[in-house]
Amino acid sequence: MIGDRSVILFYDERVLGHEPNIEEPFLPGRLARRVNEVLDGLDVKWSYPEHPGRIKAIREYLAEKPIPGVIYRSGKPATREQLSRVHTLSYLDDIQAMRGKNAWLDRDTTAVSAGSVEAAEVAAGTAIAAVEAVMAGESGSAFALVRPPGHHAEPVRARGFCLFNNVAVAVAHAQAELGCNRVLIIDWDAHHANGTQEIFYADPDVMLFDIHRASPFYPGSGHLDEVGAGSGEGTTINVPLPEGSGDIAIVKAFREILVPAADWFEPDLILVSAGFDLHRLDLALNLSYHGFAAITEIVQEISDRHCPGKLVLVLEGGYHLESLARGVHSVVEILAGGDAPIPVEPGIEEVAAAVEFHVSAFTDD
Ligand SMILES: [Zn+2]
Repeated sequence: MIGDRSVILFYDERVLGHEPNIEEPFLPGRLARRVNEVLDGLDVKWSYPEHPGRIKAIREYLAEKPIPGVIYRSGKPATREQLSRVHTLSYLDDIQAMRGKNAWLDRDTTAVSAGSVEAAEVAAGTAIAAVEAVMAGESGSAFALVRPPGHHAEPVRARGFCLFNNVAVAVAHAQAELGCNRVLIIDWDAHHANGTQEIFYADPDVMLFDIHRASPFYPGSGHLDEVGAGSGEGTTINVPLPEGSGDIAIVKAFREILVPAADWFEPDLILVSAGFDLHRLDLALNLSYHGFAAITEIVQEISDRHCPGKLVLVLEGGYHLESLARGVHSVVEILAGGDAPIPVEPGIEEVAAAVEFHVSAFTDD
């Protein structure tokens, strides 16, 4: 029942300070010229899709429809030492130099505004705070509502609206400071976690399970045969999906690939890169709110079996504000002890009712 389990939602308003706005002047240079060419070629006026309104929409919906068992807590910035476990020092220096500036970081339109470096430090540090809370046994699970997102960020490169790889920083901290040996990362964002994959590709102690819309969808990586390398071969699991894949296909991937993989791996901590852009309103895949509930329940069952209470979700993408807010709500209801309905193909229930309604019109008795 909802309220049977405790969930800590981590939120820190400093994450709202990351607000690139192309109406303002950006640092000039080759990259700016390149991005401006791309933006000038668009038919529609472009605005930065990863904006503070995303977090506000989630917070407002949770305030409107409160969930029993939920506790709020604030976050903290990550230190240079914590970030340097997954990013190079020269990359951290480059990002520090952007403090207080508007600048493009990648030609894929990733950018920073004056408050972005602090927001990114707080996003990564808040993921760490969430891991520390569950490792201390303070709740049944935790969810870090942070931005900028992290899973596209590579050791030396900002990409895909991501500056620091929040989940990777939190995993590295759990291993270095909190005694975790085997960490399972489940990335259900619609985009492949190229950064997370790169960071842990040869690491046998971190398993990455990643469902995503298949290449050539951004970022283009995450093929079936990308399975890890060296002693990490076998601990990277990619499940590329065609456009339109929905509840039935995604739940099947969780039940038939993730569950046996997790039972083999026996994690002592689970992190979820929780994106919400696989909802149909975000136009990448076709998961419903029931689908979000169903995959959360599967993840929670894995956690209950191998590492009770050691479950942390960290926000990644999700750009349609309605499906983002309602998706997070569906997930948190399950974390708080709710039961997920069994997913059905969209329309099956309605067609069954229509059959019942119409069929007697075509019989003679
Ligand atoms: Zn995404």
